[in-house]
Amino acid sequence: MQHDAIVVGGSFAGLSAAIHIARARRSVCVIDAGRPRNRFAAASHGFFGQDGNQPLAMIAGAGSQLRSYPSVRTVMGEATGARAIDGRFAVMVDDGETLTAAKLILAFGISDLLPDLPGMAERWGKSVLHCPYCHGFEYGGQRLGVLQTMPISSHQALLIADWGPTTLYLNGDDFPDAETQRTLAHRCVTIEPARVLALQGEGEGLSSLLLDDGRNVPVDALYLAPRTRINSPIAEQLGCALEDGPFGPVIQTDAAKLTTVSGIYAAGDVARVPHNASWAAADGVTAGISLQQSLVFEPLES
Ligand SMILES: Cc1cc2nc3c(=O)[nH]c(=O)nc-3n(C[C@H](O)[C@H](O)[C@H](O)COP(=O)(O)OP(=O)(O)OC[C@H]3O[C@@H](n4cnc5c(N)ncnc54)[C@H](O)[C@@H]3O)c2cc1C
Repeated sequence: MQHDAIVVGGSFAGLSAAIHIARARRSVCVIDAGRPRNRFAAASHGFFGQDGNQPLAMIAGAGSQLRSYPSVRTVMGEATGARAIDGRFAVMVDDGETLTAAKLILAFGISDLLPDLPGMAERWGKSVLHCPYCHGFEYGGQRLGVLQTMPISSHQALLIADWGPTTLYLNGDDFPDAETQRTLAHRCVTIEPARVLALQGEGEGLSSLLLDDGRNVPVDALYLAPRTRINSPIAEQLGCALEDGPFGPVIQTDAAKLTTVSGIYAAGDVARVPHNASWAAADGVTAGISLQQSLVFEPLES
């Protein structure tokens, strides 16, 4: 089946792109594997008009609004590969179908690579968090920790201190430089050098960290900046350039969210830093409108 556009990834970025293409009466197919990055959190915060709502419910609602447009097809599944053929793009889906379109939007997101510590994975998005703007208010004034994963962790600790008394857990890593230590002290951030062995607490809650010298230190929420990986090799298969972000690679795009390959756009976490659902949705709008306008204004073949 041929479309004007295929969107790979149907979450905040992909659905925002697709609805603008559909409203321009162009045909669009969204392929989605159903694993958005924030699926671990019970509530999403800060999104216009949706503060505190469940992430999966927000995405399901947007998907059902999109499907009311006649030129839309949605496919639940994984895009397994893509290639350019005769000026169009073919995308293979894990059910064996191959879809083709004039243009593509890559909105398949990124995944977080959490440190391998007992008690961490099951608390991700609940009491182990990455972003105070998304989940800081709920722990305001409580005992907060920042786990050092990269040099930027000191910066994260300076910021988190706005939400409550903060300890930077170096986890055996190097101390920050003298100037950063002075700034941390000015913000009343405590530095704990010991290695963290495990996270402890009832259910998904956190109450303490077990350190390698045997101490159990109380903490209510732990923030960290995980390394990330791009969810699909499709951008590289199509020749789109990647660039290094502070947490991991992202797809390089211009202000119109066009990648380095003509006809291929990218939006959302996979093509920006920093990350949140509102920025992902906004980038999706840019990519969708840019794509539709490129269909209109592209030079005619001679
Ligand atoms: C724990 C946690 C909590 C968060 N809380 C908040 C919050 O409260 N507020 C906020 O604004 N932001 C929050 N964020 C950030 C937010 O989740 C992301 O910024 C947002 O999800 C990015 O949207 P996206 O559409 O770019 O990617 P995603 O939402 O990650 O969606 C990508 C989609 O593409 C699909 N996909 C991947 N590969 C393929 C493939 N090969 N074929 C087909 N489909 C594919 C995935 O299954 C997924 O459905 C949170 C993040 C985390 C990790």
